[in-house]
Amino acid sequence: MTGGAGFIGSHFVEGLLAGRYPAFAEARITVLDKLTYAGNRRNLSPHPRLNLAVGDILDRPVVDGLMAAADLVVHLAAETHVDRSIAGSVEFSRTNVVGTHVLLESAARAGIRFVHVSTDEVYGSIAHGSWDEKQPLLPNSPYSASKAGADLMARAYARTHGLDVVVTRCSNNYGPRQHPEKLIPRFVLNLLRGQTVPLYGDGLNVREWLHVEDHCRALALVAERGRGGQTYNIGGGFEISNRELTQMLLDAVGADADRVASVPDRPGHDARYSLDSSKITDELGFRPRIPFAQGLAATVAWYREHPDWFTADS
Ligand code: NAD
Repeated sequence: MTGGAGFIGSHFVEGLLAGRYPAFAEARITVLDKLTYAGNRRNLSPHPRLNLAVGDILDRPVVDGLMAAADLVVHLAAETHVDRSIAGSVEFSRTNVVGTHVLLESAARAGIRFVHVSTDEVYGSIAHGSWDEKQPLLPNSPYSASKAGADLMARAYARTHGLDVVVTRCSNNYGPRQHPEKLIPRFVLNLLRGQTVPLYGDGLNVREWLHVEDHCRALALVAERGRGGQTYNIGGGFEISNRELTQMLLDAVGADADRVASVPDRPGHDARYSLDSSKITDELGFRPRIPFAQGLAATVAWYREHPDWFTADS
């Protein structure tokens, strides 16, 4: 598993080691993670079936060495923050496109099944309706463009080299241990510290949310039974504007609307994301289980109980 010390990867490791996914109940896991600012050793509790290899997915000898001992790759490592990709995006191409390419090449040589974890953001923005997996990729940020580049390389390795690769495109995740650069943890931590929260533009941008544990359960299903060469959308089915979400967070901590500070909109800010997830429901029986209000309340509680999880400046 690449990127296993990050937000989603560490939840997937936790679920695997806790036996939540029967097909992988005995799996031994090697996490390859560079431990960038986004990776955190604390996210991974020591376990006899877990090995952390600190390294870069662009390091071919390291990747080839680990691949030789693997039966399955789940690839989550990436530069993931849209705002950082606006400030400077070469690292996004390096890790997300070239890093994925290195992994695909190594997996193809070794004949290893590969799950490539992508994002709904590769489709761009949609005013009405929802994207199915056949929609064109029209990314708008350097982050989503780099993820789309990786998706297309995965497709090419399936078509050209016959690699058994499955691509997943998930909606926004939330839950414990997400880096405070992302909207929900940023807002919760600011509110708990008595600070204001920075809401982009008019706050009417709509996102579809999925609890990270539901995402990980979907990834396990795809890893077990997803068809090679196919793409699966993984949506939470719960859409809400950033303004409405902000109100829910204010309510959760008992704060007033004067704690919201409007800030200039993000350049190229996508208006709405919405996935049609009927393929993964029909083929693999996946449905989200954690209702948003319940998952959000538990997430706020986690941040309240773990004020020191991230560094002091986060
Ligand atoms: P994250 O930023 O929390 O974690 C990324 C991890 O990758 C970190 O542990 C980091 O150290 C590691 N990493 C970065 N560059 C690396 C490199 N060159 N070599 C090795 N490791 C490296 O990200 P996340 O939110 O957990 O997202 C995981 C994956 O899921 C990403 O591919 C992302 O695009 C995708 N995704 C995320 C969301 C979301 O809402 N968070 C939604 C859909 C898809």
